[in-house]
Amino acid sequence: MVNVVDTLAGKRPATEKLRHPEKAHRPDKPVARKPAWIRVKAPGSPVYAETQKIVRDNKLVTVCEEAGCPNIGECWSKKHSTFMIMGDTCTRACAFCNVATGKPLPLDPAEPENVAIAVEKLGLSHVVVTSVDRDDLDDGGAAHIAATIRAIRATSPATTIEVLTPDFLKKDGALEIVVAAKPDVFNHNLETVPGNYLTVRPGARYFHSIRLLQRVKELDAEIFTKSGIMVGLGEERNEVLQLMDDLRSADVDFITIGQYLQPTKKHHEVTHFVTPEEFKSYETVAYTKGFLMVSSSPLTRSSHHAGEDFERLRAARAAKLGKA
Ligand code: SF4
Repeated sequence: MVNVVDTLAGKRPATEKLRHPEKAHRPDKPVARKPAWIRVKAPGSPVYAETQKIVRDNKLVTVCEEAGCPNIGECWSKKHSTFMIMGDTCTRACAFCNVATGKPLPLDPAEPENVAIAVEKLGLSHVVVTSVDRDDLDDGGAAHIAATIRAIRATSPATTIEVLTPDFLKKDGALEIVVAAKPDVFNHNLETVPGNYLTVRPGARYFHSIRLLQRVKELDAEIFTKSGIMVGLGEERNEVLQLMDDLRSADVDFITIGQYLQPTKKHHEVTHFVTPEEFKSYETVAYTKGFLMVSSSPLTRSSHHAGEDFERLRAARAAKLGKA
């Protein structure tokens, strides 16, 4: 995602260590000019400032800021933000991602409560909680994610909860801990087609991620499952269609498809900008393959409009069950 506005300016200390040490030696890749159809709302409304204050006061990290999400002006003006728990430093180093990499700090035991307080203050009807990858922890952070779900449930029982989790690779039993906490939506992003994994998502395994999503449904069929990809990373259309089939084989309900935007000249380049018409075509094909919900547009992100989408997802399942 692109740093349209550096909303972290002033938050970072002047002495901050290098954000992407593993990428520093890479040759520069010029950041392509965005096409006319990628337009975003600038941050700055009073509600945006209120959301920012609640995030700061509760010492929370958001993926909206850390990833430099282009939708932050729109989302925060509606008090919608995505909390990123377990710190601001990731143990993976994906080629597209703007989240800082390195050795993370120990978990903050107060964080689940602080997230719950912020959810209550913001009055959210639906919340998305994501995290950095924590390969350094025995359970990959599963117990911390589950504790956050429970803390939100305790203070905001009417709020529906969506988690966007790491892949818990080589963390036996971790997924089961998260599923037992009963999030309403379990989201895990494939990010890109399998042929790109070595260059784009080198620490992950495509079929492990597919199996993770499938296992959620096996453990608890009530939980909605969701996964997303970015396009513009060198994939071919046929590969995207195959990926849709793989997700449907794992009984995934909801797919999101958005344009990849290059955060800095050290990140993976944008190979092409997918037109709004091509996004629409992906949406049509995805519905024919049986997804309950599809969000496919240049600015689609996993958590964009997640609340409204959850309502539609629930209605789509009810309609399907009614027909069955
Ligand atoms: S789309 Fe998601 S990550 Fe981006 S600003 Fe909105 S809530 Fe935050």
